[in-house]
Amino acid sequence: MKDYIKIDEWNIIEEGFDPHHNKVSESIFSLGNGRMGQRANFEEAYSGETLQGNYVAGVYYNDKTRVGWWKNGYPEYFSKVINAANWIGIDVVIDGIQLDLAKCEISSFRRELNMQEGYLKRNFTAKNSAGKEVEVESIRFCSMVDDEAGVIKYTITPKNFSGSITLTPFIDGDVVNQDANYDEKFWDEIGKESFTNGCLVHLRTKKTGFDVVTGMLYYIIQNEEVVNASAESIEKEKYIGAKVELQAQQGQAITLFKYAANLSSQNHPVEQLADKLKETLDRVSKKGFDTMLSEQANAWAEKWKHNDIIIEGDASAQQGIRFNIFQLNQTYTGQDDRLNIGPKGFTGEKYGGVTYWDTEAYCVPFYLSTAEQQVTKNLLLYRYKQLPQAYENAAMLGFGNGAALYPMVSINGLECHNEWEITFEELHRNGAMAYAIFNYVRYTADESYLVDYGLEVLIGIARFWSQRVSWSEVKQQYVMLGITGPNEYENNVNNNWYTNTLACWCMQYTTEVIEKVKGLDEAKYKALVTKLNFNEQDEIGKFIHIIENMYFPYDEQHRVFMQQDGYLDKEQILVKDLPASDRPLNQKWSWDRILRSCFIKQADVLQGIYFFEDQYDIETIRRNYDFYEPRTVHESSLSPCLHAIIAAKLGDEARAYEFYLRTARLDLDDYNNDTEDGCHITSMAGTWMTVVEGFAGMRVRDGKLSFRPFLPGKWQSFSFNIGFRGALLNIKVSKEGVLVKNLSDIEATILVDDKQSPVKANSEVSI
Ligand code: BGC
Repeated sequence: MKDYIKIDEWNIIEEGFDPHHNKVSESIFSLGNGRMGQRANFEEAYSGETLQGNYVAGVYYNDKTRVGWWKNGYPEYFSKVINAANWIGIDVVIDGIQLDLAKCEISSFRRELNMQEGYLKRNFTAKNSAGKEVEVESIRFCSMVDDEAGVIKYTITPKNFSGSITLTPFIDGDVVNQDANYDEKFWDEIGKESFTNGCLVHLRTKKTGFDVVTGMLYYIIQNEEVVNASAESIEKEKYIGAKVELQAQQGQAITLFKYAANLSSQNHPVEQLADKLKETLDRVSKKGFDTMLSEQANAWAEKWKHNDIIIEGDASAQQGIRFNIFQLNQTYTGQDDRLNIGPKGFTGEKYGGVTYWDTEAYCVPFYLSTAEQQVTKNLLLYRYKQLPQAYENAAMLGFGNGAALYPMVSINGLECHNEWEITFEELHRNGAMAYAIFNYVRYTADESYLVDYGLEVLIGIARFWSQRVSWSEVKQQYVMLGITGPNEYENNVNNNWYTNTLACWCMQYTTEVIEKVKGLDEAKYKALVTKLNFNEQDEIGKFIHIIENMYFPYDEQHRVFMQQDGYLDKEQILVKDLPASDRPLNQKWSWDRILRSCFIKQADVLQGIYFFEDQYDIETIRRNYDFYEPRTVHESSLSPCLHAIIAAKLGDEARAYEFYLRTARLDLDDYNNDTEDGCHITSMAGTWMTVVEGFAGMRVRDGKLSFRPFLPGKWQSFSFNIGFRGALLNIKVSKEGVLVKNLSDIEATILVDDKQSPVKANSEVSI
């Protein structure tokens, strides 16, 4: 679906209405503020194809597992961030006919997502079956400043008639999830209430018992005056609206301001929810739309100051990268350590809005560099707090003695995934948790995290690996059997190189952190040993024995790490030789055929090479890249970015740029034909990594930022801001060289192509 979205550096623009594209646009134009979010559904009724979606972060439902064949160890339910009350709805009736774009003749339509200021605007002119034509403009946003509130300014102008227009702003909690396992509705109504110019609905999730009160206050302006017409309260199950009938004059605009808020029992005592909601509505409506909008623009300006990537000479790439950064910031703001990042954020239901290893492996680098340290720390604390559930997950699979297994998919820490080959076997996710701790400490130098939280997590993870390996009498080495690597197109393999490597690294890192923590705070270390009943000598001894005696599959002929035992027994075909009609494989081939083929879904050996690149010389990296990339179909959105970074490291600038294009506009151009389900939020962090770690070659080396940049041929320059240990740096890579501006009061030292340069506070250096 290329070229549908108009190219613009700061805006995402759709011109003309294509009902077949509507669900894709609903995903792309989604809004969010970290606390709540929604798809870009229309305010007025729409009977065409749509996926209605409003979400409140952290509010979920435990949907009973549905599998064909139950296996012991499966979780009982899948926790899902669920479709919540629709607060955007405004029913519009023109002389008795409901305004519904699916039933109108549309002469103009434009949807615009303003990424600089953080709002969605829609304009259209539509004629209904009675020939009555109206012009509509709606502007709405989820406030970044008042993150429990949102607002809409909806203006309707009769073009060719004077007559009755009825506006019913409403709150509708009678919503469903398309992905509900048993077609259940997830909410119960607790109450509803109407009050002057407003109303609210109080809902409670079944089973999980989250209370959410959603309400609105509205004002209508006609003839530049506030309309005082009395409203009829419309009440249905889980629904409440205020119906106002107006006499509209041809050419004269009527504007409805709808202030809305969502408050949940996660943040307020249940008995105070309704009062607090009214206070919030009162407060934001007193600010008024214009003030809220200017606050929104300021909040986004502040975000962009730390986050923006500027690309000169390629508007399409510029739009792509800004879209990725914008969506990441809409999804997670890092204020609350109970929240995390779902692969689709607030843009759709797929993946249940829950947390995957994507956060640790892909999102952490983005937030480390673009947000204050606490934001990433909150992501880490989220997992720390779920350590008890990680023990439970491990116990479900038969592991004990303080072994921790983080879930593949979860919101409350307990595993939700229910396919044995992933739930029981895709264990590398556990290593990603440890890697994120390492990455955080490497970037921030906050070693106190290791003392207070990190080591406790690491010991649980290391214990898990030490129990999961087994001793092979034949090999006289440790092996790991029954594994699925990141490449999910292989299941139940033995000795997945990446998993074996990661497991050993986790145990090694844990032993190093033990020494570090002992040195930093002996007393706290001793307390932890007691708390975890950690037998230092025996357990560390076991970790080291495994590290020293682990088996890693390797092929002498190709001199590459083997993705797993027996990989070369498969018929070796390259992706370039696959007919186009066979792709994507996951839609065209049977699962059996995929499993027997050599084709790789996403970086697997290369994921390990990316994580641990310092352990391998450049020729080893090149051989493995040259071997695996041609066999990789990149059918996970997480794949192209890592390939771009490795290609850049190898000096293959053309491939690096090619992979960048695949990731940067993945959703805007609907590359994989699946954006209607929601945007690929976590892989957007990978896009950012492609520019910063790939093209700019940024790494942390010995406590300093190091760069090895190149400029993609089509670009005149690119630049980005990076926060590092209190300093804020702007790095600009152009044909002239590298310009580093220190925008902070803290001196920094960086390396460019291995040459060290001090950059004084508030000054610049050109290299
Ligand atoms: C990938 C996983 C990823 C998940 C969510 C899957 O397609 O294979 O690695 O965690 O999507 O993004």
